[in-house]
Amino acid sequence: MQSAQLIISDSVSLQSDMFGSVVVGIGTAGFVRIRDILAPLPSSAAEKLSVKGFISRRILEEQQGVKQITVEDALSRDDIKVAFVCTENAAHEENIRMFLEAGKHVCVEYPMAMTHKTAVELWDLAQEKGVVLHEEHIELLTADFKQLKKDIAGKRLEEGFLHFTGGPLKPGFGFPAFSGIARLTWLVDLFGELSVTAASMEEDQQNKYMKMTAQLITKEQKPLTWIEEWAPGLSRAKDINFRFDSCTITQLPPATREPVGIFMQDLVLFSQKLLGQVPRDQLHAERRRILHCLELADRIQQLSLQGSAQDT
Ligand code: NAD
Repeated sequence: MQSAQLIISDSVSLQSDMFGSVVVGIGTAGFVRIRDILAPLPSSAAEKLSVKGFISRRILEEQQGVKQITVEDALSRDDIKVAFVCTENAAHEENIRMFLEAGKHVCVEYPMAMTHKTAVELWDLAQEKGVVLHEEHIELLTADFKQLKKDIAGKRLEEGFLHFTGGPLKPGFGFPAFSGIARLTWLVDLFGELSVTAASMEEDQQNKYMKMTAQLITKEQKPLTWIEEWAPGLSRAKDINFRFDSCTITQLPPATREPVGIFMQDLVLFSQKLLGQVPRDQLHAERRRILHCLELADRIQQLSLQGSAQDT
């Protein structure tokens, strides 16, 4: 009889062999992926991955002992079953589509795509091909976020505010509602599905300044404000203010760093999906959350651009 905990996913059957992988895009994330595949968490599902090569638009030397290969090679080789898409956001869609079409499983760093419609198409394609499409969300795996989620359990939100600063936004990372999808995902994971009531964008291209403000409401009609502000010299930080019926939280709770890094935790989750070890309802909930966030990001972009067009 099938264990209640171990439900085989829709399309992937249990496999005992290794999943040869290719890493696409050698920036910060690509480097970490190679590092983690080479030294997976002992006795975890990630031990089933091996790295066969990397792809870059540049001609690079070996990276951590791994050789550069061509896209054609990666697509055609039978020993390569998985692609890690770690490029800038604008190149995700093309890469994901190409590897899914070739019947490879894909792990993509967030955000999967720059529109909700594209993400739906890519997910449908993955299903049609019978392969796993996984979007990394390391922001949900940090110790302070996990603690915050525990701390607010059972509390009723009255009003919330999340202001992210960083900067400046790198080319190819897209509209701030997409490049900042991690913050939006936080809000949805903490407070449930949301609606967008208004959004605006201030931009000074010469000074590389950008500020996006989105007004959201929860299903209980409680307001949430989300701001992404990017400019040279702005330090990477999150300012929060969550007012509940019983208390107000203005700082992320102190939490001890976990022994397993967040990219490694994500790698283990992806590997468990490859092995069919993730319950179907968890997969469905994840897909629903990811598509909901991308739909919100689309709407925020639309409203912001409408506002900017009216201002000019
Ligand atoms: P990055 O800027 O380090 O790299 C992005 C792309 O630029 C890669 O394809 C890389 O090959 C290319 N690149 C880097 N240096 C280059 C150079 N000197 N010349 C030409 N090309 C170069 O960005 P990143 O932080 O690795 O982000 C990649 C993806 O991972 C993005 O989708 C991002 O949203 C996601 N992500 C990153 C992190 C992180 O901690 N870095 C966390 C979560 C998600």
